[in-house]
Amino acid sequence: MKTTGDQQLVKHINRSVLLRLVRARPGLSRAQLAVESGLTKSTVGQLTKELLEEGWLEQSGTTTPAGLGRPSTPLQINGKARGLLGVELAVDCIRVVGVSLLGEVVYSEHELLHTRQPEQVCQQLADMTAKAHACLIQAGYQPSGLGVGLPGAFDEATGAVCFAPNLAWRHVNILPQIRQALAARGVPPMPVHVQNDADTGALSEYEFASDSTNSALVFVACGVGVGAGIVLNDRLFTGARGMAGEIGHSIVQANGPRCTCGRSGCAEAFIGARAIARDILHNGHASQAGTYLGILIHNLWTTFDPHVIVLGGVSCIENPHMVEVAEKVLRDYAASSGMTPPLVRTARYGLLASAVGAAALVLHHYLQPLQPKRAGPHLRPHEFDDTHSITANQMMAA
Ligand SMILES: [Zn+2]
Repeated sequence: MKTTGDQQLVKHINRSVLLRLVRARPGLSRAQLAVESGLTKSTVGQLTKELLEEGWLEQSGTTTPAGLGRPSTPLQINGKARGLLGVELAVDCIRVVGVSLLGEVVYSEHELLHTRQPEQVCQQLADMTAKAHACLIQAGYQPSGLGVGLPGAFDEATGAVCFAPNLAWRHVNILPQIRQALAARGVPPMPVHVQNDADTGALSEYEFASDSTNSALVFVACGVGVGAGIVLNDRLFTGARGMAGEIGHSIVQANGPRCTCGRSGCAEAFIGARAIARDILHNGHASQAGTYLGILIHNLWTTFDPHVIVLGGVSCIENPHMVEVAEKVLRDYAASSGMTPPLVRTARYGLLASAVGAAALVLHHYLQPLQPKRAGPHLRPHEFDDTHSITANQMMAA
């Protein structure tokens, strides 16, 4: 029987459903998966077989239920077969990681950025990725895609970086350049995705956790700039033009200090790296920055009602006092209103959060096959995201 495009899409969706279920609850059997997913037992049996063969799932032993019944085989995500490549393109360096489907970091490397000229950046990125690709294979992992996180707004509809002020990039068509540079180094074709670095930071917390309370999560990245990655209803929320989460330029003080963006009183003028350095120089600690960070996360709480707010980026890692002050400010606001604030914690992957999350971006795209194309008033329901040109089937074969 000929398989049509629609059938392939349905199959991809069904595979994603099964993978997400097993990830959320490792140890589910085929019978339980059929009940949980609503798919027939024969469909689950067939898809599970493929997912086992392709190294997405693994099974271990058999368990016999307490009562009468056939023994079942617990399934889990295979953390030893497939690998994901992640790159953080930062303002002054490039970090490359290779991770398993379970988020274990099996390879990590970083280099100072030679130049910020886009073409040369892509070449350096490709050199480092080619090395990571080879190391993953040597370690027994099959690389299944590359994600790139960078400090700017990425428009998924056009595949271009609209604006990355700290790299001095505007309208850089980055995806083809990365693919070309990878091909020139002999890296086999694979899905390549790009996203803002705070967004990938959020995915490092979301995609590798079985905890369902992560379905609404905000990752705050404090570095030279300040940004937020937002996961709502199990999806990255990027806004109409990829600009959602530019919280560094939300106003926290009327007529406040001038910000690099031209406005006055932006959060970044209080908690950007330069402001923190000034705070420490004048006061001996980053308490003022902590207070404004607390105001900022309070406002994120009231805007998005997340389960968790994760504080990441080099400034949060290097200034635990600032983080403590921010948490106290949030608790005080919560007490005043008689509300329970969201959980606040620091990034699990530390400085590697954006790179690991870039690897998670590959998984995020794979497990969310129905991403509508953004923008455009002419969006029709059947237009799905194929902007990255690699199809689900190529990914399965990768
Ligand atoms: Zn600003």
